[in-house]
Amino acid sequence: MTLCLGLVAVLGGASLVIGSVMLRDQEANAARVQQFDRFETIYAAQQAMSLVRRYSGQLGNAIQTPNRQQQDAARKAQREAKASFDGELLKLSGADPISARLIEEASDEIDGLSVRALDSATSGDPERAAPLLLALQQRIDLIDETLQTASKREQLRTGELQAAEHSRLKDLVRLCAAIIGGAGLLGVLMTLGIVRSVIRPLQATTNAIRQVNAGEIDIDLPPIRPDEFGDIAVALRQFRDQAERLRRLAYQDPLTGLGNRARLEETLQRAIDRSRQTREPVALFYVDLDNFRAVNDKFGHKAGDRYLCEATARLHRFMPPGALLCRHGGDKFTITVDGLDAGSALETPLREQADCLLRGLAESYPFGDHLLNMSVSIGIAVFPGDGETAEQIIASADAAMFVAKKNGRNNARFASAQLTGTMRRQLALASEIRRGLERDEFEPFYQPVVDVEKGLVVGAEALLRWRHPENGLMPPSEFIQVAEDSGLINQLGELCLIKAHEQAQIWAAKNRRLRVSVNLSVRQVHDGRILQLLRGFSSAPGSRERLIDFELTESALLDSTEYSHTMLTEIKRLGFRIGLDDFGTGYSSFSYLQRLPIDKIKIDRQFVTSMGASKQALAIVSATLTLAQNLDLGVIAEGVENTAQMRQLRILGCKLQQGFYFTRALPAADFEAWAVAFEENGMDAHATAVAAREPVTVGIR
Ligand code: C2E
Ligand code: CA
Ligand code: CA
Repeated sequence: MTLCLGLVAVLGGASLVIGSVMLRDQEANAARVQQFDRFETIYAAQQAMSLVRRYSGQLGNAIQTPNRQQQDAARKAQREAKASFDGELLKLSGADPISARLIEEASDEIDGLSVRALDSATSGDPERAAPLLLALQQRIDLIDETLQTASKREQLRTGELQAAEHSRLKDLVRLCAAIIGGAGLLGVLMTLGIVRSVIRPLQATTNAIRQVNAGEIDIDLPPIRPDEFGDIAVALRQFRDQAERLRRLAYQDPLTGLGNRARLEETLQRAIDRSRQTREPVALFYVDLDNFRAVNDKFGHKAGDRYLCEATARLHRFMPPGALLCRHGGDKFTITVDGLDAGSALETPLREQADCLLRGLAESYPFGDHLLNMSVSIGIAVFPGDGETAEQIIASADAAMFVAKKNGRNNARFASAQLTGTMRRQLALASEIRRGLERDEFEPFYQPVVDVEKGLVVGAEALLRWRHPENGLMPPSEFIQVAEDSGLINQLGELCLIKAHEQAQIWAAKNRRLRVSVNLSVRQVHDGRILQLLRGFSSAPGSRERLIDFELTESALLDSTEYSHTMLTEIKRLGFRIGLDDFGTGYSSFSYLQRLPIDKIKIDRQFVTSMGASKQALAIVSATLTLAQNLDLGVIAEGVENTAQMRQLRILGCKLQQGFYFTRALPAADFEAWAVAFEENGMDAHATAVAAREPVTVGIR
């Protein structure tokens, strides 16, 4: 708006000025023409008068002679010149009436004086002609002078006109300069206006958008104004606030309000970078609550949350002042201590700080009617020494914590190169397992469960194998533990379950109805995801019987908190059977057998192996069989390797057996072929065949 008004003002002013200049120019032109005409007229009159003077002179001379003819001729020429002058005088009276009037009188007398002078000469008295000629001369001089004066005056006027024109020209130049200056000024003002109203806000807005994009929090937001830029500023503010909220969420654990894993990684990395300059070491305490899962399972998730908050409060209370406490996820916390004293031996103060934490956390915690023993396991890693990056330091501290946990919990361990190396190898293996899963390198092999009375294959245990592209066929002992520790066992277990179920369906379709046992990890029981999978599984054709059984170890079942109990009950409700694996190796008392939701037990290989040599082992196997019979539980003996074991178990009443005596676990197709041959030949033929090679196979696994 302002800009438009300014522009109109400048254009209007300029046209007014140009108009007036043009008008004045016209007037000046007219004056110049008039003046030029006057000048011309005066000049013509002067010319005419100079002729009159010349012929008057000739007339004077002729009068002095007696030659009449000459006198007449002179008079005639003078009269004609005078007539011509009169014509000019007439014009002059139009152009310069005052001068004309002054001249007229003298001019009128010229003819009279000339005639009288001539008459006096012709009358023979030339003496009388002299004063007349003198008078004539005076009149002519007068006229000349008058004309000259007029001419001078005109010259003066021309000068004036020129001066006026000059000054007008100067005015014009000044005016133009003023217009140009004004326009320039206006241009500057307009530019300033544009800068103020458009470019600056645009720059501010662009900057703010860039900052917002870069995830900066302290943004120089453009001011709120009543225009479009103001709208953008408001939108940016909202965006910034939202981004800030998201950022807070991204860096904060909602339950405890502590920084989360992302926050830890960022701060620790910054502390490490600083430490490279200051040479002051940074320590990381990796703190894991002992037995948290039990609290969670026994009292529910809400109680678990309260327990975590209490632990947070205690950690705050007992950690070194100025340290940063973060929740690394689940029941894991980290404490970052930077700016440590580089000079002294670090281990002692760090151990003291860890002891302080252990003591502080170990106070019992009243929880409803219970008094819970809270305790933690701590791993300590230090930069420099235990890693180069935040990620490595965290991994080292985590590995140390793992050792502390294995050492009986409620203690602290320092990271060491050896420990870190093991951890690193395990991490590498975990990522290889991940890749193997993507490339479908895992496959269950099947080991038959044989009914030795009937000589029939009645079931199979699915045992995972890894067809590793470089290492060849890898047994579970080389990857199951890492899969357990890294949580990948969930995926591996599911994969084994799905494939085993598919295989069982294929066999059922071929009229080989086998119950295929799948091993279930504790993690899978806690996770509960497989329930959904199981609900989608079909039953055996023509019956409601399920094709899959599960095997759980004692420790998995004994961990049976409320949640896992519900979970197992649900598995059973869906029609799947559950077996207790490795029976006898754990700490389970017989009373548990009654309470656990199980259908069968698998006598562990170690009892089967030592049964022949150890009376105790034999007694355990025998007692287990009696107990199982009384509790109506199925029994499978595993690890049967030779004829003696097979026979002894058979005599004790254990007819379901599994072991190398029959065969090792085989790929599905080989298993099928083996089962067909075994059933065709019968137990006796198998026993004969085994006897032939027995001395070689005994004891070899
Ligand atoms: P497990 O469940 O106790 O499986 C029996 C193991 O004993 C198998 O080892 C089997 O090959 C071996 N075995 C069978 N008969 C004999 C015998 O007569 N003599 C000897 N010396 N060994 C015998 P494998 O296949 O190496 O599996 C080892 C363990 O890996 C399994 O022990 C099981 O705990 C675990 N595992 C295997 N597959 C899976 C799976 O899919 N999921 C889970 N969670 N664990 C699995
Ligand atoms: Ca098993
Ligand atoms: Ca077993």
